[in-house]
Amino acid sequence: MADCYTNGLMPLAEGLRVLLDKVSSIMDHEQVSLSQAAGRVVAEAISCPINVPPANNSAMDGYGARSADCIGEVTLTCIGQALAGQPYSGTVAAGQCVWIMTGAVIPAGVDAVIMQEDVTREEQQVSLSAAVKQGQNIRLAGEDLQAGQLLFEPGHRIKPADIGLLASLGVATVAVKRKPKVALLSNGDELVEPGQPLAAGQIYESNRYALAAMLKRLSLEVDEFGIIADEPEAIREAFTQASQYDAVISSGGVSVGDADYIKDILSEMGQIDFWKLAIKPGKPFAYGRLGKAHYFGLPGNPVSAMVTCHQLAVPALRQLAGEFAEPPLTVIATTTEAIRKRPGRLDFQRGIVQRGDDGRLVVSTTGRQGSGIMSSISNANCFLVLELERGNIDAGEQVEVLLFDALLG
Ligand code: AMP
Ligand code: MG
Repeated sequence: MADCYTNGLMPLAEGLRVLLDKVSSIMDHEQVSLSQAAGRVVAEAISCPINVPPANNSAMDGYGARSADCIGEVTLTCIGQALAGQPYSGTVAAGQCVWIMTGAVIPAGVDAVIMQEDVTREEQQVSLSAAVKQGQNIRLAGEDLQAGQLLFEPGHRIKPADIGLLASLGVATVAVKRKPKVALLSNGDELVEPGQPLAAGQIYESNRYALAAMLKRLSLEVDEFGIIADEPEAIREAFTQASQYDAVISSGGVSVGDADYIKDILSEMGQIDFWKLAIKPGKPFAYGRLGKAHYFGLPGNPVSAMVTCHQLAVPALRQLAGEFAEPPLTVIATTTEAIRKRPGRLDFQRGIVQRGDDGRLVVSTTGRQGSGIMSSISNANCFLVLELERGNIDAGEQVEVLLFDALLG
């Protein structure tokens, strides 16, 4: 598939398109309480159950009266009071008014509220001379939201403010999509779990830890399968179990010339396609099916694993979760340094973006950018997204910056 592109590499956008074409949303719904709903994906449209505000109410502390009475200098008789939570139940007739507090329901007969500061009161006699307009200082029922109005469409991921909004409307439970179940595993005979001693030639496993932390922020149910030894039986057993999941994410073992059994066993048990992507870092990537599971094979190098997960697996998982996600927002910043780049791949360099003295955005890289250098991404707050066709960049040039989102930040 990759051969039809210049230098045999598939552009990222094309890879993403192919992936998103293959993934459809989970259909199962579940009802969760509002306090469990943050980060979940709405499964059924949510409409507003009530008017907000629920009744006409006063926007001021003052006197509720009939605007037709208030022409020129007049004196009205105060017949009672309306407090927030304690409405006045009578009707206000001609020549009368009620003392009313902010938020209190407007009593029958009243069609205007006169600010306290604009009247003089002696006993029950309230005198005013300012012009009064019908409807003044009255907030109308349904002015903010109307009963029946659409609030959230299916596919919306619920934010903390959405939870507040729903609570303010009396909504206690929400129908959301089931969380996709993701199996996460690592391949490589050289890998050792943190906490264990390191023998010659071994390195600590880090991908699974970083990827799990990232995926959990997407409200996925992540099961960590650990390090799979490079033995056919161990791999077969792990893949058989993983095939019961909605998605499988593995890292390592997808590079050309990798001397392990992963590829053979995947091809034997499912379907697998190896891609060479025109991105840096993260050239090797695999996508396939393992039973009903979508299989995402990330490169082993730690920065490559995070970049390909973020750029390819995450959008596919969002779609699997039923989310309609907007494409991420990028900004333009001026680079403070010269950046070496060869044309031919879309480069995700790691950087720090901030405001310069003149208030405009400036960006610098986090230093050495090797695909195994985890500090380059740990120290960063953004990617510098350098276009595929672009070559070396001078200090002072404009570059596109993708701020770290909630998954990376
Ligand atoms: P591979 O894609 O398997 O050829 O691995 C590329 C590089 O990434 C090698 O240096 C591996 O040792 C390293 N690597 C692979 N998997 C992991 C992992 N889970 N954690 C840290 N480094 C890894
Ligand atoms: Mg390997």
